[in-house]
Amino acid sequence: MRTEQYLDPEIETMSPAALRQLQVQKLSTQLDYLFARSLFYQDKFAAAGLRRADFRSLDDLARFPFTSKEELRESQLASPPLGRHMAADMVDVVRLHSSTGTTGRPSFVGVTRKDAQCWTNMTARSFYTQGIRPSDIVIHAAGLTMFVGGLPSKDAMELIGATFVPLGTGASEKVVLYARSLGANVIHCTPSYAIYLAEYIRREAKMNPRDFGIKKLVCGAEPGAGIPSIRAKLTEEWGARVTEGLGNADMGPIIFGECPEQTGMHYCGQEYVYTEIIDPETGAVLPIESGVSGELVYTSLERECVPLLRFRTRDRVSILATSCNCGRTSYKMRCVGRTDDMLIVLGVNVFPSAVRDIVSSFYPQVTGEIQILLDQPGPGVKPPLKVVAECANGSADQPVLKKQLEDKIKGMLTVPASVQLVPAGTLPRFEMKGQLIKKLYEG
Ligand SMILES: [Zn+2]
Repeated sequence: MRTEQYLDPEIETMSPAALRQLQVQKLSTQLDYLFARSLFYQDKFAAAGLRRADFRSLDDLARFPFTSKEELRESQLASPPLGRHMAADMVDVVRLHSSTGTTGRPSFVGVTRKDAQCWTNMTARSFYTQGIRPSDIVIHAAGLTMFVGGLPSKDAMELIGATFVPLGTGASEKVVLYARSLGANVIHCTPSYAIYLAEYIRREAKMNPRDFGIKKLVCGAEPGAGIPSIRAKLTEEWGARVTEGLGNADMGPIIFGECPEQTGMHYCGQEYVYTEIIDPETGAVLPIESGVSGELVYTSLERECVPLLRFRTRDRVSILATSCNCGRTSYKMRCVGRTDDMLIVLGVNVFPSAVRDIVSSFYPQVTGEIQILLDQPGPGVKPPLKVVAECANGSADQPVLKKQLEDKIKGMLTVPASVQLVPAGTLPRFEMKGQLIKKLYEG
């Protein structure tokens, strides 16, 4: 059954109790597979003194060890190309993807035919939740090669029946040309790129982005589209409805998607990825309830090539609701930043995206572009926090605006800041993910 409102009505409106029952069945089978096929997990379970019989209910999962990105990296170095956590035969792997982490060394992810199908279903559900329908013409202005958000997005859009236009990155000229001649009404890209593209259109095409006919901006790959001031700017620039999705290079292309209510991203991986929210310091599992914040942890439920158990994403999320006017029964959340990016000033956790949010709230006096300057490696930062912000027009010598920005940062985040204003267009623009931190030190 497929209705206009849901791609998978049964799963998307399932009661929490029925979903848990389905998930415990799936996880039992996945654990059978890990105990039988994964050398990586056989070692980890043995080290923790765990047997297969120790898992009987979803609550038992908390007894099992976490998996970190560092472990996956070491596993791949020790056993290339896919690592000791690869649990399928290479002959069954139909495609490879990679992500480049902070170390610059690519880490690879493989999918079997069945894994690819699961990714397609989950990603399509996230897009459909965001309001993509068969009549849409979608410009994909994000990475296509190797990136997990590339080809799987094509598969997912095709499953829905939408028209996928694979433009990729670094092709702003083509976006301008094609979007209008093809009558595209959707752009799928990062929020940084959506801002960049609007500026590009004003500058190069001498047009208002609103006249482009884009009705839906489907954003992802970095936080931003959910930050109120950035969302307001995107909505105003494009005259389009902005929604966002979230996935993970090691687990799935898009696992969460925001419905047109625009009040947070629905969990869309019900039968493919089990999620936990944990306290990042203690590792304790937190309840999935409104108001809870913590680190997102993923467990695959039916993966063949690289199944992962309790994988720590380093994404910090806040649960916003456990019900929705759209009728979906999955919880909704917002990603507030990454633990990797987090700074600590005078004992206070500061996410660069939160600083950007505060600065952006001064729009249109500012462009919203910022950079935080670090004199030494984080997360500890000696106060004041050094923030470079672009003013929108005129001279950068605006002591009143500078003082207002510093006061607002201090008021909202309780940390002292020193703001340096620079003219519009000074800070580097990033077509892919924005870089909010600039290191002034070597290394
Ligand atoms: Zn909803």
